[in-house]
Amino acid sequence: MTIPYPVRLLCLSLACFYLVHLAVGLAVALAAPRAMRWAERSIARVAARRLAALRLLPAALALFVVGGFCVPSYLWLEPRATVEEVSLPCLAAAVLGLAIWAIPLARAVRGAARSLRHVRECQRLGSLTRLAGESWPAWVIEGAAPCLALAGFVRPRLVISRGVLRALSTEQLQAALRHERAHWTSRDNLKRLLILAAPDVFPFCRAFAGLERGWARVTEWAADDRAVAGDSRRSISLAAALVRVARLGGAWQPPPVTATLLGSAGDLAARVERLLRAAPADEPPGRGMPVLAAGAVMALAAAAMLPATLYSVHGLLERLVH
Ligand SMILES: [Zn+2]
Repeated sequence: MTIPYPVRLLCLSLACFYLVHLAVGLAVALAAPRAMRWAERSIARVAARRLAALRLLPAALALFVVGGFCVPSYLWLEPRATVEEVSLPCLAAAVLGLAIWAIPLARAVRGAARSLRHVRECQRLGSLTRLAGESWPAWVIEGAAPCLALAGFVRPRLVISRGVLRALSTEQLQAALRHERAHWTSRDNLKRLLILAAPDVFPFCRAFAGLERGWARVTEWAADDRAVAGDSRRSISLAAALVRVARLGGAWQPPPVTATLLGSAGDLAARVERLLRAAPADEPPGRGMPVLAAGAVMALAAAAMLPATLYSVHGLLERLVH
């Protein structure tokens, strides 16, 4: 099929994105079970950051290769006036590249819209209240469903139902609010949205579903650790708060971009047990990984500047396109 210069660039970019994402994505999917076993033995806050980074790594690396190598080499070395043929495998890879972007992006837009609707509804039906001993205002809503959550991702709001307020003692409520504040400090809702928008390896296959569940689990542990900060009284209060809110029952389905107190129902027993075993300490993560990642990005960026690299990449693109 013959197509003009800009469409060919788009086609090549999508195809390159798909191929790099496929290679890195399969490696990540294979490494995920081991990474999750490591995460369960590690400091929760560090583990949560690294699992999120691992989930976003295929898309980040593929975008970097396309933006840093493919597009510059094409713009620099490909003659502009030509209308050239594009091979069927290249076209197929471009269509798959488009599909693995389009599906999660649509999911993320739907999730963000549901989350914003939920925030607006809470603001319309609830009353803004400053809870005793708290500097953070909360939207208190009526209704049977037990809700204690951080809603929204740009400026998250604390939402709490009247039933939960009644069910918790002052200490339990404070521990639960500290848990939600920990989600806010870690920007967990924004990370949730990014993960929702991140492509998967194949269009209709959730190869990263286990990794995403693992990230969600250690994110709850990290928020628990921050809330408790090594204090055994707070640890017991938070465990009691979790049990009391879970016992309230009800069928509240939080929007996808919402950090709740309970998290996934299947992980609740393990969280309570973890809190009762010993008050988990909240150790600050080291700076090793960001420095390493920044170093790697700078080295790759320097390599992209070399004309020899761009010539090699252009050679590979020519093979892919014909
Ligand atoms: Zn939570």
